This record gives sequence, C-alpha cells and structure tokens, in this order.
Amino acid sequence: MKERILTGDRITGKLHLGHYVGSLQNRVSLQNEYETYLILADVQALTTHFEHPESIKQNLRQVALDYLAAGIDPDQATIFVQSLIPEIAELTTYFSMFVTVNSLRHNPTIKAEAKERGFSDMYYGFLGYPVSQTADITFCKATLVPVGEDQLPHIEQTRKIVRRFNQLYKPVLLEPKALVGEVPRLVGLDGSQKMSKSLGNAIYLDSTREEVQEKIQKATTDPARIHRTDPGHPEICPIYAYHQAFRKEGSAEIQESCRKGQIGCRECKGKIAQSINDLLEPMRDRRSKYQHDRKKIDEILMAGTEKVRQVAKETMQEVRDAMSMDYF
Ligand code: ATP
Ligand code: MG
Repeated sequence: MKERILTGDRITGKLHLGHYVGSLQNRVSLQNEYETYLILADVQALTTHFEHPESIKQNLRQVALDYLAAGIDPDQATIFVQSLIPEIAELTTYFSMFVTVNSLRHNPTIKAEAKERGFSDMYYGFLGYPVSQTADITFCKATLVPVGEDQLPHIEQTRKIVRRFNQLYKPVLLEPKALVGEVPRLVGLDGSQKMSKSLGNAIYLDSTREEVQEKIQKATTDPARIHRTDPGHPEICPIYAYHQAFRKEGSAEIQESCRKGQIGCRECKGKIAQSINDLLEPMRDRRSKYQHDRKKIDEILMAGTEKVRQVAKETMQEVRDAMSMDYF
C-alpha cells in the first residue's frame, strides 16, 4: 500500500510562487508515488477571515484551479473541502482536551503570525489552528506533509499530539514527517517578508506575461545601487533570490556581475521575468483547459470529498474505539 500525503492551503486567495516552490512543486512530483490528499482549508481560513466568509466561497474554486494548473492530476490526487468532513472538527475537539494553551502560545509561527496581524489577544480558533491541522493530517493517516518552512513548528506539534494520543489511548495514529520544498521560504517582492497572500507582495500563478514583467520591474532591489556601475549586494535583493529559485544555472553569473556592477537591475530583472514566465507558461495552458469548466471543477471537488468521507469514518471508528467511546 502507498503511503499518504496530506497538505493544502488556506482559502484566503489565489496561490503564488511561494506556494509553488514551498509545497506545490513537491505535491506535483510525488502524486504518483504517494496517495495524495489536498485539503482546501476553508475552516482554517476562517481563523483570520471570519468576518468575510463570502471571500472563502469566491476563492475555493480558484485554489482548486491553481492546483490543476500547477500539474495536479485529479485522477491521481484527491482534492477535498475541509468543512465538509465533520470528523476533522470532531478529532480537533478530542485533541484539544490534552493540548495546553502554553504549548500553542510558544509556537514560533503562531507568535510571528499573531504579531504580523496585530493580535493583542488571540482568537481561540487562531491559537488552536495547529491542533486543527493535526486533525487534518491524522484523520487520513498521512505520513508525509509537503510544506514551507513556516509550517515546521506545526508539524513538530502534530508529532507530539500523535505520540500523546497513542500513549493515552491506543496506537492508532501515525506520526508524520514534514517535507520542505526546494525553497523553504521565498521572499516577497518587497524584499523584507516572505511572499504571502496577505502581504500584497506576491506573484500569482495565474499572472499574465505582462503582469510578471511589471511586478518584477517594480520590485525592490539593493537600495545602495543607484548607478548601474555601483557594486551590488545580491544577498539582500529579492530579484537575486528569484534567480536562485527559478534560474538556477544562471544565478552564479548574475551574482558575480551584480557584485562587480557589470549588470544593471533592469537587465537582471528582464532575465528573471523571462524564466518565471517560462515556468508559468505550461500552467497557463493547463489553466485554460479548466478555467471555463466550473462543472468539471465541482465534480472533482465533490468526488474527492466523497472519497475522503469514507477514510474519515474509518479513522474515527478506530479513534472512538481507542478512547472507549464506542458505546453501542
Ligand atoms: P496567508 O497569508 O493567508 O497565511 P500564505 O501565503 O502564508 O497565506 P498559506 O496558505 O498559509 O499561504 O500556506 C500554504 C502553504 O504554502 C504552506 O505549506 C506554506 O508553508 C507554504 N508557503 C506559503 N508562502 C510561502 C513562501 N513564501 N515560501 C515558501 N512556502 C510558502
Ligand atoms: Mg500563512
């Protein structure tokens, strides 16, 4: 039997290059080797978007379309909607009985995200989202979770929760491992923070050629470089980070000519915009096949969710049995 992968995205907007290199690329390349489950995390989106649930509805199919465009094969991978699997909420509740508030408050990603969002007091659901993620991963007995670097503390917490559950009750859950993508944390166009939907510093997978060129030309570069001949500092330039991520072979040469002031930012940006467009081009082709076929996307999501329901039922039976909650 194949091992399982579970991973996914909060339904807070369309996907960008950070998602691709952090996680999506691995999902595509492993979808034949592993039984792959992709969760459209609408409940987790509510942790920060509870005032605008309608935005989740607008983005749901968009994220599914991004998966298909990126090369996810719906005949191989199973795409499903989190809120339609009530067992996930049930399992979250059981876990929350033995996870302490302090262990969540000390989670470095929770701390960083709470600060970023200006939370002085944390919402209960937000603080507990690593517990809900543990339920996402464990209900389908996934052993591998392709994620970006920011998710590592959560996977560590998941492993602890699994060990605790198995020790308290019966060893029915599996301890997963994280698989971080080729670029663990892609920097945003502002050059200071990670590329993120919420920070407005992203290049989206559905960008046109012109949008890519325009965003790249406007991106921050080394502020010390005023004239073309000024020596540059590629290590602080997001454009150089993109060369390393998307134009590997040419990046050593770029680094050298930037340091020596032999290449201008405009030319350097032109080269990387071209490489990013080369990466996105086949995605544009695949996207155009599904884009106007809402019915097809709905069929994929409904079939995926139906399949996952069965898996969830089986695991919850084992969980309830392990917890002596199999009353009748
Ligand atoms: P939001 O701002 O709504 O939290 P996000 O852009 O941070 O959105 P998530 O849905 O939180 O995206 O992340 C989905 C997956 O993509 C996670 O595995 C995360 O680690 C990965 N990821 C997101 N942004 C990046 C990035 N800039 N570099 C590498 N991986 C990333
Ligand atoms: Mg995030």
